[in-house]
Amino acid sequence: MPEQIVIIGAGQAGVQAVQSLRAEGYTGAITMIGDEAYPPYQRPPLSKAYLLGSFARERLFLKPDAFYREAGCELILNTVVTAINRAAKKVTLGDGRTLSYDKLLLATGTRVRKLSCPGAELAGVHYLRDIADVDGLQNVFKAGTRIAIVGGGYIGLEVAAVGAKRGLDVTVFETADRLMARAVSKPVSTFFAEEHAAAGVKLNLNTSVEAFEGKEKIEGVRAGGIVHPADLVLVGIGVVPNDMLARESGLACQDGVIVDQNAMTADPSVFAAGDCTRHVGREGVEIRLECVQNAIDQAKHAALAMLGRPKTYSEVPWFWSDQYDLKLQIAGLARPTDQLVLRGDPKARKFAVFHLRDGAVAAVEAVNAAPEYLTGRKMIADHIKVLPEKLADLSIPMKQIAQG
Ligand SMILES: Cc1cc2nc3c(=O)[nH]c(=O)nc-3n(C[C@H](O)[C@H](O)[C@H](O)COP(=O)(O)OP(=O)(O)OC[C@H]3O[C@@H](n4cnc5c(N)ncnc54)[C@H](O)[C@@H]3O)c2cc1C
Repeated sequence: MPEQIVIIGAGQAGVQAVQSLRAEGYTGAITMIGDEAYPPYQRPPLSKAYLLGSFARERLFLKPDAFYREAGCELILNTVVTAINRAAKKVTLGDGRTLSYDKLLLATGTRVRKLSCPGAELAGVHYLRDIADVDGLQNVFKAGTRIAIVGGGYIGLEVAAVGAKRGLDVTVFETADRLMARAVSKPVSTFFAEEHAAAGVKLNLNTSVEAFEGKEKIEGVRAGGIVHPADLVLVGIGVVPNDMLARESGLACQDGVIVDQNAMTADPSVFAAGDCTRHVGREGVEIRLECVQNAIDQAKHAALAMLGRPKTYSEVPWFWSDQYDLKLQIAGLARPTDQLVLRGDPKARKFAVFHLRDGAVAAVEAVNAAPEYLTGRKMIADHIKVLPEKLADLSIPMKQIAQG
């Protein structure tokens, strides 16, 4: 049993590790260090209900303060960890203190990818990763404001949906030829493009932003040789993992801290979980996932591994996005070679796209279709084979289809 566990990063994975360590019977000391001002909170509402104004700040926090007291977890906030000395098993904090560990968990998440183009430093150019980002955006996120959104991925489109709902004049710029191209199939991209257009969002696909124009403050976005007037810019072009500490301490990193299926690094005293990691997923392919499911499940596995009881992590990844009154739920990891099967009608705003691989369900994308999503997720986990015509037949309930 370790006596001192240190967790770097007070986010989704960090707090899950605290909970799991105690649930698994760990009685030693736990210290969790976070560089933000807040105790661990959920990020998904930031670009959805919190930005809309229908979700109180207090509801963001994953646990009440009493949780940390009762769990005997020393929570050090507003403090960055600046170095890991693996030989001495110590971490150095920004204020100069050092802390010793028997086991160390890296749960440092990601940071936003910055756009480097002329004008990138102008006032009025925003990013969205934390509470402070949204609070800073709220003052200018007003009806009538012209917002230019760079990136037609989840974050950009969630902000577009909230913006349209709040009466902003919304324009989206996306380099790819379709929305959410990295995450969803073509039919789902097309469906969401139509929904955004119907809500008044101007979509510019195949369009890369070349520069932000303005004297001190943003006045326009240059894209495709044209300057589009804008009062405000939101950049949502992805994230990069916070793996510098691990890298500087000599741990293997490649777009994320490399861990095995037990959330262990090559150093038996150092573990990692959540967005900052790269691991070999259940399909035997190296992957870095950026979702709540992975943060939670990998942290559970890290806790077990830290206590000397490693268990292979092979859960089906899942994700969701809320745009307007549409709930998009995705399970599994699709491949371009999958056979697509449509169940339901996009015009009814309730449908699912199943991905079949070797006759079995490998992934599902469901829009306002919870039964398809939930059953599909289970079918993926159980490798259930199904005939495409059966899957497409709405007269056959999902429960029956789940039997294969
Ligand atoms: C706007 C937004 C919307 C999202 N929506 C969804 C969604 O709908 N569904 C979904 O599944 N996922 C969503 N995600 C992703 C999800 O929030 C992340 O996958 C999840 O938070 C990852 O948890 P984590 O613990 O790995 O990292 P985080 O929760 O990011 O926590 C990491 C923490 O470590 C801190 N840190 C980093 N380096 C140091 C250091 N050196 N010293 C101290 N502290 C450090 C960071 O500041 C951060 O507070 C969304 C993310 C964002 C930003």
